[in-house]
Order: sequence, then C-alpha cells, then structure tokens
Amino acid sequence: MMKKFRLLTAVVLCFLLVMPMLALAADDTQTTQLCEHPEENWLWIIDKNATCTEDGVKHRICKICSKTDSEGTVIEKTGHELAAIEAVTPTCEKNGNEAYWRCKNCGMCFSDAAGTTEADENTMIKPMTGHDYKETGRTETSCTTAGVITYTCTHDNSHTYTESIPTIAHADNDGDGNCDKCGMGMNRDSKTGIAGFFAKIGMFFRNVFWFFNEVLKGWVKT
Ligand SMILES: [Zn+2]
Ligand SMILES: [Zn+2]
Ligand SMILES: [Zn+2]
Ligand SMILES: [Zn+2]
Repeated sequence: MMKKFRLLTAVVLCFLLVMPMLALAADDTQTTQLCEHPEENWLWIIDKNATCTEDGVKHRICKICSKTDSEGTVIEKTGHELAAIEAVTPTCEKNGNEAYWRCKNCGMCFSDAAGTTEADENTMIKPMTGHDYKETGRTETSCTTAGVITYTCTHDNSHTYTESIPTIAHADNDGDGNCDKCGMGMNRDSKTGIAGFFAKIGMFFRNVFWFFNEVLKGWVKT
C-alpha cells in the first residue's frame, strides 16, 4: 500500500514538472487566434530580418479577411556562426595571417573562438617578408671565361639567382707582347724584318700551347 502511494506521488511530481515545460514549448510556436479563419490562411510577413546580433520582426495577415496582428512577433537573432581561419606563416612573396574566426553570415571577425573580441581582418595579416639575397657562391672571371655570382635567399634556399661577371679583356701592361693574366701571345709588331718573322712564328707556337692549356683548364673545371 505504501509502495503504491510513493509511485503515485512520483508520477504526479513528474507531471507537475513536465507541464510548465510543455506550456513554454507551446508558447514558442505562436497559436494566438488572429481571426475566425483557419490557421493555413494566415500569411507571415517579415518586417525586419533577424541578423546575427539583432532581433527581427514579423507579423501575420489573413488572406481572407486581411486582418493583421496588432503587434509584430520577434524573430530571435541568430548569433554568429564562426569559422576558424588558420594561422598562415608569411613567405617571401605571400602574406600570412594570425589565427582568427570569421562569421559565415555577417563576415565579422574575432580574435577568439568565443566571438567576444572583435578584430579587424586587416590587422590579422602578417606581411610577406620579401627576399633577403646574400652572395653564396662565386666563380672568378678570367680573360676567356665569364665569372658567375650565385645569390641565395636567407629565408628559403630554393630562391636563387645568378649574375654573370663579364670577361676581362686580355691586357699586356708590361709590354712583353703577352697577356699579363693568361699568357696569351698578343703583339709582336714592335719587331720587324727577320726578327719580326721569328717573333711571329714564336707567338704562333706559344698560342697553340696557350690554346691547349685553356682547353685543359676547362676540363679540370667541369
Ligand atoms: Zn480572417
Ligand atoms: Zn555574424
Ligand atoms: Zn626568398
Ligand atoms: Zn689574357
């Protein structure tokens, strides 16, 4: 007998608890009578759309008798729908950004996931660094081959470029008829007659030797 009574009390208590909730739920879907015509004849007119941060307003009108609501009904604001924008490290040629959150609906940006601190999207940009080229290699120039300087970016060693150093012209400053730098025979015009003839023969053989020497130097390099 006692057990049955307890069960009954529990059921009644549960019912009392659930009832107000049901009443609240019913309140949400407006059921106040507009006119004597059935509900399917009532048309909802949106006066002001709800946004993320502001409530909207709507009212009903009966398609048959044109009776309208004296007061509008509130359309609840939607709240922001935030999407995370991941942090991107800036590179030499592309801007990066801090991590932030942007609303899919209104585009407002926030520096936190909860959407409490508003942020200007432009201030989230981390500007590109630009290249920082330093000389990392050099092949010296000679009388016959151009030199090459290699520059490499200190931020990313896949960014490189080369610059060629033009060849130096042969130069005979000490007047011995041979290039001071590479030894190529240049000029035997000061000697005339038979001396000039042998000087030119000597220069021919000197340059045959010089030529093979240059070719050999080329092979050693490659
Ligand atoms: Zn009506
Ligand atoms: Zn929003
Ligand atoms: Zn770079
Ligand atoms: Zn030379």
